[in-house]
Amino acid sequence: MNLVLLDPADFIAGGRVVLQGRRHAHLRQVVKVAPGEPLRVGLLGGKLGTGTVLAIDDQQIELAVELVDDPPPPLPITMLLALPRPHSLRKVLQQATAMGVKRFVLFACARVEPSFFTASAIRPAAIDEDLRLGLEQARDTVLPQVEVHAQRFHRFLGERWSELASGQVLIAHPEPGASPCPRAVAGPVTLVVGPEGGFVPAEVDRLRELGTLVDLGPRILRVETAVVALLARLG
Ligand code: SAH
Repeated sequence: MNLVLLDPADFIAGGRVVLQGRRHAHLRQVVKVAPGEPLRVGLLGGKLGTGTVLAIDDQQIELAVELVDDPPPPLPITMLLALPRPHSLRKVLQQATAMGVKRFVLFACARVEPSFFTASAIRPAAIDEDLRLGLEQARDTVLPQVEVHAQRFHRFLGERWSELASGQVLIAHPEPGASPCPRAVAGPVTLVVGPEGGFVPAEVDRLRELGTLVDLGPRILRVETAVVALLARLG
């Protein structure tokens, strides 16, 4: 935890917060903070600054906080991701959030298991926790938006594409015919990442009409690895 993320509800007075639960346990047991120590803090959706430990016991920690700095700039990348299995989803959300993605769109396609849409990892509370972990890792305060679309792929594109796509559209597809993924792209990107089994031919044909197929070379990477490599290359 490189940042203690604060909610408005944590404030007991202007400049004073009290934390219990996960953040208290982490600060007490892992960081082992003591009264007087400074911590990096940030208000969800707001500024970053310093928190000074006023008191800590078994139940809670009290901090005096001063919020002065802006969060880091976002990555102007909208990530459309074929819903991966729960373990991969958690990694993708945490890591891509840490790298600055502010909009995730999770969709269904032929090789996405329908059961993934009922997994506990996709419940709003679980997604929120992964996003917060990503923000805490990267010292950011701006929560990404996550949309989940369980309808069939072609219907999803028909209904949602015009609103979702912005800037350059890149479809990560490690198959012959893809171009090398561009580096350090200026301006917004819509990045489409496929399922573990890849897109089926009809889906590739449709996506080819919407953007450019790109790859990172001949190695097939796990979704969570491909996402990090793609973001590092584009950002
Ligand atoms: N057998 C599948 C592999 C899918 S890997 C196929 O051949 O398409 C899951 C997803 O991760 C892919 O759909 C792609 O979006 C991304 N990915 C994995 N390796 C990649 C690479 N080398 N370049 C670009 N994208 C990659």
